[in-house]
Amino acid sequence: MTGHHILIVEDETDIAEILRDYLVKEGYRVSILENGQEVIPFVRNQSPALILLDIMLPGMDGKTLLKGIRTFSDVPVIMITARVEEIDRIIGFELGADDYVCKPFSPREVVVRVAAVLRRAVGTGRENRLSFGSVALDRDSRQVTVKGHQVNLTVSEFDILACMLASPGTVFTRARLIETVQGYSFDGYERTIDFHIKNLRKKIAHHLPGRTFIKSDYGVGYKLVE
Ligand code: CA
Repeated sequence: MTGHHILIVEDETDIAEILRDYLVKEGYRVSILENGQEVIPFVRNQSPALILLDIMLPGMDGKTLLKGIRTFSDVPVIMITARVEEIDRIIGFELGADDYVCKPFSPREVVVRVAAVLRRAVGTGRENRLSFGSVALDRDSRQVTVKGHQVNLTVSEFDILACMLASPGTVFTRARLIETVQGYSFDGYERTIDFHIKNLRKKIAHHLPGRTFIKSDYGVGYKLVE
């Protein structure tokens, strides 16, 4: 995973520099931007492999930026927030963040997450077309169609769907999904799966109105149904 270009958007210089030092030590190329206004032109021109995006920024806040970025790019984004209460909104409001970290964080943990998100984004190289009912997924092109309509998913949504499509009808616990999808598990992150599932359902239902495709198995987890 070395050599990837990581963009850190963070106006607290100390935090940005610590993150940069850790990431550079792992072999990444790192750019830092402090002002929100600079981000979209930079992303368009430089196409970073991953963005660490602080929410509270001068110029333009992180959430507005993420919405803007998502209009033209699927680049993996890890949000940085100082407020735990914002997590629901980051993941739940279809902003399309792939993960988040809360301040204060350990730079080591951030490096682990960057590597995990990049690993997922770059893909496993497995040759695989999966389908169930009206939903089809291609691991190579990372494309998903519902009734033939292309659906844009975040990296996390795609990986959850790929995991479930590999074994339709099986009940997947949150713990299993988060492990499959992230390759690691930290306490308290299982509910992010619920938000990703909620978003996935919404996107699939857009082309399958009134139908249940991802069913909650109450108290256990989720499974696909036709
Ligand atoms: Ca800030």
